[in-house]
Amino acid sequence: MLDQIKGLHHVTSLASDAQQNNDFFTKTLGLRRVKKTVNFDAPEVYHLYYGDEMGTPGTVMTYFPFQRARRGRPGTGEVGITQFSVPQGSLGFWTDRLSTMGVKGLSEDTAFGENRLRFQGPDGDGFALVEVAEDGRAPWVTDTVSADVAIRGFHSARMRLRDRGASAELLRFMGYEKQATEGDLTRYAVPGGNDARVIEIEELPGAAPSEQGAGSVHHIAFAVDDRERQLEVRKALMDTGYQVTPVIDRDYFWAIYFRSPGGVLFEVATNEPGFDRDEEPAHLGERLRIPAQHAHLRDILEQRYLPRLHD
Ligand code: ZN
Repeated sequence: MLDQIKGLHHVTSLASDAQQNNDFFTKTLGLRRVKKTVNFDAPEVYHLYYGDEMGTPGTVMTYFPFQRARRGRPGTGEVGITQFSVPQGSLGFWTDRLSTMGVKGLSEDTAFGENRLRFQGPDGDGFALVEVAEDGRAPWVTDTVSADVAIRGFHSARMRLRDRGASAELLRFMGYEKQATEGDLTRYAVPGGNDARVIEIEELPGAAPSEQGAGSVHHIAFAVDDRERQLEVRKALMDTGYQVTPVIDRDYFWAIYFRSPGGVLFEVATNEPGFDRDEEPAHLGERLRIPAQHAHLRDILEQRYLPRLHD
């Protein structure tokens, strides 16, 4: 069993409109845009990162906004709900705020003794805010979202699977321990992990498979401290029979990817070097950053492909 994985690093999803996506995360939810770059494998598309002040691993929601992309269809084989941690007693604020702002799909429920507010992103993305009593992470605050209610970072990701067996086995191998089961839901957590150390599996044997599109999670990334630990994880996964990509330099972290048995794309990403690698902390996310391999494309990308974002 591995002990290098510390919880979530980031969650990456697909969107249909960059401006709408930017406004939802920075204005409605009050996160900080910590990086404005491009999809390294498809540089005509933005890669937008939202998180806490520094984009600490475990807080970072990222998007590929493919303009006018078709909406995905929720189902099995995907992360159905990305869940953020908020302070105890803050759901009243969020219910008022999100309903006033026209956010769809608001509903409250309780799971594993925690109060949750479910809501949808602009493309029908499945989200929830979960009230957590003890979450010491310092939040990013805005004029309208103060520290007593602000999002702390991820609480967890909930995968929807037809059968949880093989994925549960993989999570155990990755260092997760089963915590509890409640109906169709099972919760796993990494002992000694970061504040986003929970993964939930919702088992839905009869449900139809998801179709990826705008509003779908593309992959979830798990955090390791550094490249040395990443190589240990890569070797262990490959020795177990997983096909894992080589280490890929994503400028702000190094990444490896592999497909989990339930169909969800997993990434393992390093906590180094971080989002202040090429920008001052006070100005993270302001200017368009283009990785070296695509630097020669800057003019054409800005003029023809990437819609101008208004903050
Ligand atoms: Zn990623």
